[in-house]
Amino acid sequence: MTELAKYTKEFSELVRSSDNILLISHINPDGDAIGSQLALYRYLNSLGKKVEMMCPNNLQEFLKWMDGSENISVFIRKRKKCIKLIENAGLIVMLDFNQPNRLGEAESFVTSSQAPRVIIDHHLEPHDFADLIISDPSRCSTSELVHEIVTCLNGSPWRDLPYSESVYVGIITDTGNFEHGAYTGNTMRVVADLLDTGIDRNRVLNTVYNNFSADRMRLMGLALNQRMTVLEEYRTAYICLTKKDLADFNHVKGDTEGFVNLPLSIKGIVFSVFFVEKDNFVKLSFRSKGNFPVNDFASRYFDGGGHLNASGGERYDTLDNTISYFLKVLKENEEMLKKAE
Ligand code: 5GP
Ligand code: MN
Repeated sequence: MTELAKYTKEFSELVRSSDNILLISHINPDGDAIGSQLALYRYLNSLGKKVEMMCPNNLQEFLKWMDGSENISVFIRKRKKCIKLIENAGLIVMLDFNQPNRLGEAESFVTSSQAPRVIIDHHLEPHDFADLIISDPSRCSTSELVHEIVTCLNGSPWRDLPYSESVYVGIITDTGNFEHGAYTGNTMRVVADLLDTGIDRNRVLNTVYNNFSADRMRLMGLALNQRMTVLEEYRTAYICLTKKDLADFNHVKGDTEGFVNLPLSIKGIVFSVFFVEKDNFVKLSFRSKGNFPVNDFASRYFDGGGHLNASGGERYDTLDNTISYFLKVLKENEEMLKKAE
């Protein structure tokens, strides 16, 4: 029996013996968090299970079209309801995160729950805050892993259109539509199952990627033209946006999605950083090409984490101070960046 089959068997036993199953995705949920959550929701529902969904904060606009997304309760908006959902849960399944602080304001409620907890995730080194951890960093996305688990439970790939679309959204958003990230032959075999179900690949692509406002494009113009600094000696480029920049372009959640990837297309640049000023902190996104480990960088200096080539973190300080601090710690990584390949 493979590792995955063994864990799936344990998972299946937990599912069988539980009535109220609560699926939780992470704070600032991305396409993979919501995709894997909705896919598992639909499958468990088809087994006749009572399933609920919760997420710590709001979904981005580009994910709201997905089938079932209207059933996700947002903790910061419906606090009382969500606390009840956690209290009533007989089984909690957490998707696409490996640290309890990714539960945001729901953290203490979830971690003190008496219900068995399961993590399904693909980030490195999951923290130990669950009874069963199904984690595989060789998978490009949690959605890929969910599809394998569902296939295992179902005995064959589950042919269900909204389910397949959800898994597909998770895979394309975590790989930048097969441009980066850890996608493998296995991913493509999963994608083959999804395409066999008859999903409209172009419709999904257009809904996820080609659905932005003109203001968002103009904000991207500002970011590249006036807010990007290139540090050739560190093979690094960074973009900073202030609260005022966002307000000037009528920013809505999700508008800056993908900006962090843009500097990586500059010749010689292996490390890209995106700073966004928030109310009392700065949110940072990191991306790299090759072997410069941005997850280590994020956890060492910015209380964050993620994957080898895509990570994030935060700093409770002003934007100017955060940039100065970043430049200082960047210097400590000069040798590694010079040697990165
Ligand atoms: P993004 O830059 O797209 O917001 O995040 C990229 C990846 O970095 C996410 O998939 C997630 O794994 C990780 N990440 C982003 N922000 C944080 C954070 O504040 N803490 C941790 N631990 N991981 C983060
Ligand atoms: Mn993911």
